[in-house]
Amino acid sequence: MEQTLSIIKPDAVERNLDKEIKEMFKNNGFSILNEKKIQIEKSEAEKFYKVHETKPFYNDLCAYLSSGPIVVMILEKDNAILANRELMGATNPVEAQEGTIRKKYGISIDKNSVHGSDSVENAKIEIDFFFKD
Ligand code: UDP
Ligand code: MG
Repeated sequence: MEQTLSIIKPDAVERNLDKEIKEMFKNNGFSILNEKKIQIEKSEAEKFYKVHETKPFYNDLCAYLSSGPIVVMILEKDNAILANRELMGATNPVEAQEGTIRKKYGISIDKNSVHGSDSVENAKIEIDFFFKD
């Protein structure tokens, strides 16, 4: 079994979609091992998204992730990282496949409703970031 970090982003929490999105994870065979609803400081978002610090969208991205409550979760399943990336769909909701979370709920490339780790290494770092006590 593999674990990945999932975030339900402010645009989805604000529209009360967290329950429906969690159901999608469960219906697709993921177990939610741990979860919490939190709001983070912009400085924490900057740390979380450090890999993107040279990108033109970095500042807006960090402002956005810290703009309202989010739900962070540890998801578990065989090949959870790839399975979650597939279930989320493409970064830009207009390019996401039918049936994916971003196709269903995403508003735009920046308000795309969910985050998911992209590698075993980053999953570990991201899970520790939110859940290491
Ligand atoms: N993002 C954005 N503009 C872009 C590319 C990305 O606002 O042109 C945001 C988007 O919310 C995305 C996040 O930055 O989810 C992280 O980008 P990444 O390329 O890692 O996409 P993801 O892994 O989330 O699909
Ligand atoms: Mg990414």
